[in-house]
Amino acid sequence: MSLKIYNTLTKKKEEFVPIETGKVRMYVCGPTVYNLIHIGNARPMIVFDTVRRYLERRGYEVNYVSNFTDVDDKIIKKALEEGVESEVISRRYIEECKRDMEGMNVRPATVHPLATQEIDGMLEMIHTLIEKGHAYEAADGTVYFRTRSFAQYGKLSHKNLDDLQGGNRSLLVSGEDQKEDALDFVLWKPKKEGEPYWESQWCQGRPGWHIECSVMSRKYLGDEIDIHAGGEDLVFPHHENEIAQSEAANGKTFARYWMHNAFLNIDNRKMSKSLGNFFTVRDISEKYDLQVLRFFMLSAHYRSPLNFSDQLMEAAKSGYERIVTSVDNLNFLLGGAAGEEPTEAERAAMEEAKGFSERFDEAMDDDFNTADAISVIFELVKFVNTHVKEGGSRAFLSAMKEEILNLSQVCGLIVEKKEELLDGDIEALIEERQAARKAKDFARADAIRDELLGKGILLEDTREGVKWKKA
Ligand code: AMP
Ligand code: ZN
Repeated sequence: MSLKIYNTLTKKKEEFVPIETGKVRMYVCGPTVYNLIHIGNARPMIVFDTVRRYLERRGYEVNYVSNFTDVDDKIIKKALEEGVESEVISRRYIEECKRDMEGMNVRPATVHPLATQEIDGMLEMIHTLIEKGHAYEAADGTVYFRTRSFAQYGKLSHKNLDDLQGGNRSLLVSGEDQKEDALDFVLWKPKKEGEPYWESQWCQGRPGWHIECSVMSRKYLGDEIDIHAGGEDLVFPHHENEIAQSEAANGKTFARYWMHNAFLNIDNRKMSKSLGNFFTVRDISEKYDLQVLRFFMLSAHYRSPLNFSDQLMEAAKSGYERIVTSVDNLNFLLGGAAGEEPTEAERAAMEEAKGFSERFDEAMDDDFNTADAISVIFELVKFVNTHVKEGGSRAFLSAMKEEILNLSQVCGLIVEKKEELLDGDIEALIEERQAARKAKDFARADAIRDELLGKGILLEDTREGVKWKKA
């Protein structure tokens, strides 16, 4: 079976063929960092982290780049409100975002570039666009992209230039009276009082939003990349404009596959800061393990809208716990496992269990259908629960555990709870170690110290007795 990806560009599922054999260059538009991220922002993070994990399962080496937009009107506004530099705001929320990502088990990107660190590249690309006749400077130093100069404009969003001309107000920005055409968009704009700015040959100013991604993608991944992704609200104008800038400047096809996740909604309306109908990831973490949030997001296909509700979160919680409980039970049974070798019946079950892995891959090969992939994990859990029993062989029990852990891990779900030692248990083990030492049973004393170390507890022998701390 080959991997198929739905490509917004062609509106079709296409076989995935990377530019370079065995490697994937992937760019995911990241958040603007002026506040804690909401769970709508978390959807692309979880979805594309899962895409990355599955590509790795298929043996690809994935170079995954995701930016932080750290210069923007909303960041500047917040900085002015707090009376601090913009950088203080963006740094703070980048750190908070990384904390949320860790909680959701979203792996850090290979690189997380910051827009403010890439200004030189932006100036260079804007310069090239002017030289090639795709951009122009207006009287106040604003630089615009000449949209009609890029013949394929509209190819991603399947819009026609003349339809757009019908007064699409969302395209208009300040100073638009200086534009040659209403469709033109900003590449560089003059600073306003109190705003961060950079020197340029046109004016002291800052970049438009779209140019950031074209430049960062080129710098870290090259002129041509395999996958470019983000939420569906980015198709137009953001991604359409990125294509125009990159292809006009580089003369090459920018990205082969364009992937877009559908919205996370509340009462069938997009969750967003501006509508005020949002929950932050931090809010959710007060009520649920963030693994439940991850499970909830993956229980739908990424191109289907997903409605957030308490009821669905509760369902996700019990679904997730069903997997955790099965692994817990396997760990318990492993404690009393009888012998190493599997019995005939166990061997047959191990063979049968391989089928789950194959079906999981089939689901994921079909445009990353995590909803079906999770159903396969459930079937596996059911199979395991009916086939394991006390006194099973170690080989069989560990094979079943590995199977569940492997598939869950591709979804980024942590389903094995590392048991936290309670203080009382630690004290009891320390006492046992002291008794073993007194009885000159040093082997046992060392084994206890190692066991504790394995669980992150460091022992220190002091004059006042044994002390312990978390490593
Ligand atoms: P922003 O910070 O608004 O640029 O958004 C960062 C990412 O989150 C983009 O890929 C958006 O498309 C995505 N996003 C924002 N709101 C939602 C939502 N309600 N559902 C799904 N994705 C969203
Ligand atoms: Zn972008």
